[in-house]
Amino acid sequence: MKIASYGKTDVGKVRELNEDNYLISEEHGLLLVADGMGGHAAGEVASALAVQVISSYLDENSDEQGEKLPQEFMTEAIERANQMIHAEAADTEEKKGMGTTIVAALIQDNHAYVAHVGDSRAYLLRQGQLEGLTSDHSWVNFQVQIGNITEEQAKYHPLKNIITKALGIQDSVDVEMSKIRLLNGDRLLLCSDGLTGMVPDDDILRVLTEHEDDLDKAVQELIELALENGGEDNVTAVLCHYTAEDEEDMEDTQPIQYVPPTNEFDSDKTEDEDDDGDDMEKTDLDMEVPETLRDPVPSDRFNPPNDE
Ligand code: CA
Repeated sequence: MKIASYGKTDVGKVRELNEDNYLISEEHGLLLVADGMGGHAAGEVASALAVQVISSYLDENSDEQGEKLPQEFMTEAIERANQMIHAEAADTEEKKGMGTTIVAALIQDNHAYVAHVGDSRAYLLRQGQLEGLTSDHSWVNFQVQIGNITEEQAKYHPLKNIITKALGIQDSVDVEMSKIRLLNGDRLLLCSDGLTGMVPDDDILRVLTEHEDDLDKAVQELIELALENGGEDNVTAVLCHYTAEDEEDMEDTQPIQYVPPTNEFDSDKTEDEDDDGDDMEKTDLDMEVPETLRDPVPSDRFNPPNDE
């Protein structure tokens, strides 16, 4: 297999700081976008830490990588990042409450292992169709799932910035992981909500299709479009093109083979039953108010509204 990739980030038109970070490591087959939050530039620290910790985890453990399932390996790297951000936040008053989203894709052989926490997203472009690979850990998405609001209402909801999971907030994190069989010509897009909040999926698809042979142009135009539409947030996009070497992966007739998300690889969790993946899922469904806030006003980010 062969991958080619390109990424870009922009501060946008409203924010003073860019708290997004991204990483492309073709050596490890890793793509990653992190969208930080927290006052006093702490968001920038949190997302940069996530990139650094995950990148060095892959460097340091690449020898043992073959002994582990890729899902397990990725989950461990992200859990490590969570611990480091959480520890750093606890150490410094100005960094208290800092956190970051993460969306990462590890591409190995003919699969992509997609991990996410928060509302940064991964998409798959295959045969002219754009498929979302992640489900936002956000308050509005939760409301959509339980039928309180429609997807259309969620797009313009005043609380659409609230996320319900992030790295660094607690000493453990629930990483959502999925596995996708890749086919020749597939493209993966990872992005922060500064893109998806400004550019509808239809336009993302149009831009990716128009610049099918030019990753750099496609990414640049997506960012340009987010800025034209208001650029209200930092905007980051990472795009990757997968070329198969196996003949069976050259077939272009297969539908998307998507393995639903699972938490079964949270192997480092304690024995405490309340902390295992399944129970965390239930906790999420019972949740009435969000645990974390993402909002232009830093002091409000982690104070859930009480108007439920
Ligand atoms: Ca953002």
